Amino acid sequence: MVHLQTLFKISQGIYIVGAREPEGRLVGSCIDSVMVVETNPAQILVSLGHISYTAEQILKTNRFSLSVLGQNNPFDIIRRFGFNTSRNMDKWTDIPHKIINNLPLLTDSVAGLIARVDDVRQTATHHVLLCTVTETIDGTMNTPITYGDYQNHIQNQKKENNMKKYICTVCGYIYDESVEGVPFAELPDDYVCPICGEPKSAFKEMTD
Ligand code: FE
Repeated sequence: MVHLQTLFKISQGIYIVGAREPEGRLVGSCIDSVMVVETNPAQILVSLGHISYTAEQILKTNRFSLSVLGQNNPFDIIRRFGFNTSRNMDKWTDIPHKIINNLPLLTDSVAGLIARVDDVRQTATHHVLLCTVTETIDGTMNTPITYGDYQNHIQNQKKENNMKKYICTVCGYIYDESVEGVPFAELPDDYVCPICGEPKSAFKEMTD
């Protein structure tokens, strides 16, 4: 038996990944799986879901940026980068960022880095990238947020508002009312899954 709540107690941060399509358009995503493997040379492990459009672009270009989120960053940034796809949205538009080595980094983050992909392994659902850090960028003096902090925030919101989650039975995308702020039932009839485009009827309520 594997309990998610136990896994949430393993300290992980939350990060915004930035990359470019080979044609140049900026893409990005929100991830929680980053581990420093060693410091000399600086190498990290990063995992990105197979359904991630940003991951697709990183595998083509072998380069990406990582912005470390702090306790001060609004949860909106997680929602924007984590619950939409860059396939049909320019996530960096209107988000304060700087370009370093041609890659986007949040202006307001605890730290940033640029990495090069050296090796890729596959799990059932994720690409696992072994990368070399080629540059580090100083950020604000805030404390990094952990994935556990985020989960606590979500759980508290859920309790306060009796909010539910709905899963797309086609691609596994999860619509979380506590994150989106809008009850699923109140979404317009023409709402479609932001990942696979299936209609509302493809979603079912989760019972976790
Ligand atoms: Fe879907």
